[in-house]
Parts: sequence; structure tokens; C-alpha cells
Amino acid sequence: MANQDSTSPSHALFDQFVQAQTCKEVQRTFSELCHHLQVDPRDYQSFYTKLKERLNYWKAKSLWVKLDKRAQHQDYQQGEVCAKNKCLVLGAGPCGLRTAIELALLGAHVVVLEKRDSFSRNNVLHLWPYTIYDLRGLAAKKFYGKFCTGALDHISIRQLQLILLKVCLLLGVEVQTGVEFKGFVEPSGATGWMAKLFPDNHPAGKFQFDVFIYAGGGSFVPYGFKRKELRGKLAIGITCNFINRHTAAEAQVAEISGVARIYNQKFFQDLLTETGIDLENIVYYKDDTHYFVMTAKKKSLLKMGVIKQDFSDADKLLAQVNVDQEALLRYAYDAAQFSTGHCLPDMQFAQNHAGQPDVAMFDFTCMHRAENASLVRERKGQKLLMGLVGDCLVEPFWPLGTGIARGFLAAFDTAWMVRSWGKGRPHMEVLAERESIYQLLSQTTPENTSKKYSAFSIDPATRYQHVNLNSVKAIQVKNLNIIYSFYFYSQRRHKATFISVPMCVHGPDSVGAFEVLLKWCQQHTAGYDRVKVNDLNQSWRSGLALCALIDTFRPRVIDMSSLEESNAVYNNQLAFNFLERELGIPPIMSANEMSFKGQIDKLSMVHYLTQIHDGSGSQTF
Ligand code: FAD
Repeated sequence: MANQDSTSPSHALFDQFVQAQTCKEVQRTFSELCHHLQVDPRDYQSFYTKLKERLNYWKAKSLWVKLDKRAQHQDYQQGEVCAKNKCLVLGAGPCGLRTAIELALLGAHVVVLEKRDSFSRNNVLHLWPYTIYDLRGLAAKKFYGKFCTGALDHISIRQLQLILLKVCLLLGVEVQTGVEFKGFVEPSGATGWMAKLFPDNHPAGKFQFDVFIYAGGGSFVPYGFKRKELRGKLAIGITCNFINRHTAAEAQVAEISGVARIYNQKFFQDLLTETGIDLENIVYYKDDTHYFVMTAKKKSLLKMGVIKQDFSDADKLLAQVNVDQEALLRYAYDAAQFSTGHCLPDMQFAQNHAGQPDVAMFDFTCMHRAENASLVRERKGQKLLMGLVGDCLVEPFWPLGTGIARGFLAAFDTAWMVRSWGKGRPHMEVLAERESIYQLLSQTTPENTSKKYSAFSIDPATRYQHVNLNSVKAIQVKNLNIIYSFYFYSQRRHKATFISVPMCVHGPDSVGAFEVLLKWCQQHTAGYDRVKVNDLNQSWRSGLALCALIDTFRPRVIDMSSLEESNAVYNNQLAFNFLERELGIPPIMSANEMSFKGQIDKLSMVHYLTQIHDGSGSQTF
């Protein structure tokens, strides 16, 4: 057993591991520590216990206390519940790593694949209170002393990845970097599901798994999952990072946790007058870097020469050839200067992974969301459970910082799904439950999730205030059981499913889908005076129900008390205009037709309400 001397090599290695500041350093120190203590991380089921025993070091004690507390939660059943499951997680972003931790606690053999070999994203993530609580429980402060000190509620993406990577490794998760997932190798008689990788001789290609978690970020989805595009009004985001030298002068400058135009007209007017920069909102966080994220108006970007030529197509508009990089740097610099009262001294851009000034422009006009969160694929009698987690499930709007909050919720929900799978529940039930829970995700806010953070676990009932695990029935998810083979792995951003239709509208399960939609409408219009939604057509005639739906998600945009039931054309027009402007949902008919014509067409109305339902979780709603 290692001795208690603080000069012991294993103690020194442990200290280096805890403090490591790059992905490579974490992996190196971990492997040396394991080697020195003669513990094999491939022995994943007993690795953590052996490591603890052999590293008899007082500085590690507080870490074990935290991890033990988490591991002892009843949900994990002492790591027995998924002891027979093998999980492949694609992506070592925060959500992939967070999911991997939960799967390891459930006792599964977990391998994470990451195509990059470094963590280089300076950008800063906003954390909801529950995520701060959660990360503290995983000893985040031990690994990163500055973690959310005082009132801080943010962290850089790379620091978060480093913390989670360290926890993963300690819990016996195998994290393989510099390896890209290219698709599946289907089961043969003798082997189970495996992955095609690049480089193709990578040892992880031999790993056989029955669970595949896709956490690959915003741009890709595995074939078989459908994504919806929610087209809002044009929204151009700019992020930039400046070097933080941690001087007293820098410490004095106040953060901006989010100024939106509607709340501070004067700030934005002064900014425009002084600099010509026109913004919708801006956030400034002081972290490893000075980080700014802002939404800029197209007109001012054109006027300031950042965008060279106007195009209605956002891809063309923000294409590299159409952006003047120098002008973009100036724009970001001036906005940062102004918004911090010119008090940040000697502002110098931090560098991105390519050694360039860390400034980037992104299009948030089209936000994507997966239609379903899970699938079961079956081939030669071997089932593969698949789940989506993180940005690829619901794309976040960065200025509002929903990425980690909803990403971690989905990680827990996915772990809950794998737990049911591990328990041997019929797979259609597992999928139905997962889809029931997924319906809640886009509507989550810090206000409507439970405040009892200490009780949070992978059990959805501990986190969501009103969760119905049976809102989607097994029969409604039968299209999520795919019993044929495929090799194709989509490398393209999935586009053009603008008009989304509920999963089963045209299929034999339409009735079920209509009921789900009707229930959703009833739930979100309940309690409004003169509004009674009994069906998916006639109840909508007066326009009051549509306005009530809007009011539920965007309180006070409409003065509900001023609306007359008899003024249907006005009410409908008001709702149509808002929904088209804010969510890009075109009206299905004119306000006149909606108000006076005979029967309102049910299918058209279903399409319309579905889009409102889908858009209700978007940031523009
Ligand atoms: P990600 O963090 O994107 O991680 C996905 C991982 O999967 C990546 O590491 C990727 O390399 C890996 N991967 C993808 N495909 C493969 C494959 N085939 N094989 C192996 N590995 C693969 N959010 C904010 O709130 N503010 C910001 O300023 C901000 N800036 C961002 C800048 C960039 C460039 C990106 C990509 C994202 C940014 N985000 C920002 C979003 C934020 O990073 C995510 O919400 C958060 O990291 C959670 O995402 P995730 O874990 O789902 O995916």
C-alpha cells in the first residue's frame, strides 16, 4: 500500500492529475498514476474501489467522499443494474462526458470516443443553479478551485470538459481521443454491434456494445433520427474572447449577465450612437478569458462592413467569403469596449484552437431539435439501444445558456432509459418512457424545474415538476424500432423539415398523436377566461385559444384582458402575426377564413398547432 508521505510518487501524480489543464496532461497523469499503483482501468467494475484503496492520500479523501455519496444513490443499485451493459458514447463534449459518468455509476462498461485530441473552446457556458449543485457534487471545486465561487454561474467549455473527463476516468470510463466514429458494423453471428472508426485499426473498434449514445454536438445526427428545423427571425450571434490577465483593474469590471434590448433601450441606443453597432443583447462573463456573446443586427453588420453583401439565405450571408474578418474583429472589440465602459485595460484577443483571434459569428436563425430522443435498432436478433444527448437533441441558444442545463437533464434522462434497459424492461416501453420524458425538455426553465437540487437524480420525478412517464404509449413509438440494417452515417446538417408533423399524424397511430396534441393544447390554455379547447378545430375559431397559447409561453406580449370574443378576426390576426414574426410559422388560412368560414380544417389546424408545440421550446418563443 502506498505510504502517507506527501512526497510519495503516487501522491505527486495524483496532485498533477487533479491540477492538469489539458486533455493530454489529464490522460498522461492518469495513466502514470494507474501504472504506479498497479490498477488497471480496464477492470472497470472494481477500478474505482481499488484506486481508492491503493491511493491512501489525505488529499484524495474529500474527492472519494463526494463520489461515494453519488455512487451510493439507490438509483444505481450499487452498480449492479447495468453491470451487463456495454455503452459506446460518441463525443467528449460536456454532455457526452456527463452521460458517461451516470452510465458508469450504473455499473456499465463505458467507452467514450472523441475525434479531437484537445479541449480548446474558450467560450463560456451559463450554468443553471442545479448544474452548479450537480457539479459541486462531482467535486468540481477540487479540480478547478475557481469553480463558481461567490455568485459566479458560468464556466468555460474546456474547463468543464476537463472536470468531467477527470471524473469519468476515476470511475473507470475509457475515454479515447483522436478517434472518429464513422458508422456501425452490424452484428454477425459471432459478434455484436461494433463501430467503424478512423483510424480504422483503433482498438476501440473491437468494443461490442448494446447501447449507443450520440453526443456529437450540433451538426450531425445518426441516420434514423429526424431533426426539425425551427426557423425564427434572423439572429446572428457573435462570440469573442480576450485574454484575462487577472489584474486588479480587470477584477473591477462588472460582468453583464445579459442585457436585452427590451430592458435597456438607452444602453443600446448609446452603443449605436457611439459606435454604429446595433445589438439585440449582450452577455459578458469574466472567466479564464473575458468572454462576450452578443446578437447583432444584420443592418449594422452590413453598414460596418462586417458582412460584405446582403443575402436572404443565412448560410450565404455568413459564408466565410462574405465576412470581412478584420471588420468583425473591430466590431466585436468595440462592442466589448463599450459594454464594459471602456474599463477593460489592454484588451487583446485570446487565441482559438487554430491560433487565430478567438472571434466567431454564428447563425441562430434556424434552431434544430430532434423529433425523437431514442431508437432501438435490431439486426440478427441483436438489439441496440440508441439515445441522443446534448446539442444534437435540442440545439441551444447560447446567449440564454440553455446548452448545459438542458444537456445535463437529457444526460440524466438518458441514463434513466439505459437503467430501464439494463433491468430488462420491454424495449418498446423503454422507448415510450424516454419519449414521454423528452416532451418536457424544451420547456424546462430554472423556474419550472424542481428546486430540491439535493434530491436530483437520474429519476425524472426528482427533477421535473410534472412528469408523466406514460404520456407517450408504446404503440406510438413502434416506428422507433428499426429492424433493418444500414451503414450510412449522416455527415450533413439535416435540413428542410420545416413543416413538422407529429410522428404519427398520417399513420395508423394518428388518433393517439392527436390526443397528445390536444392534451398539450388543453394543458397550456387551461384557466384562461372564455377559452375552452375541446377539439383541434372549432375551439380555435375566436382566436382566444391561440392568443392564450402565446400568452402561456410569452406572458404579457398580448393583453388578454383587452380581447373580445366577438372580435375573432382581430384576435386571429394578432396571433398569426406574432407566430409568423417570432417563430416563422406561416398562417394556415386568413384570419377571415378562420373566423367565419364553415368548418376549420382539422389536419391544417393540427399542422399549425404542431409547429407551435414544436416552437414552444425555442428561444424565440
Ligand atoms: P459538444 O460540446 O459540441 O461536443 C460534441 C463532441 O463530439 C465534440 O467534442 C466533437 O469533437 C465530438 N464529435 C462529433 N462528431 C464526432 C465523431 N464522429 N466521432 C468522434 N467525436 C465526435 N454554448 C454557449 O452557451 N456559449 C458559447 O459561446 C458557445 N460556443 C460554442 C462554440 C463552438 C465552436 C461550439 C461547437 C459550441 C459552442 N457552444 C456554446 C455550445 C456548447 O458548447 C454546448 O451546448 C455544450 O458544449 C454541450 O454540448 P454537447 O456536449 O452536446 O456537444
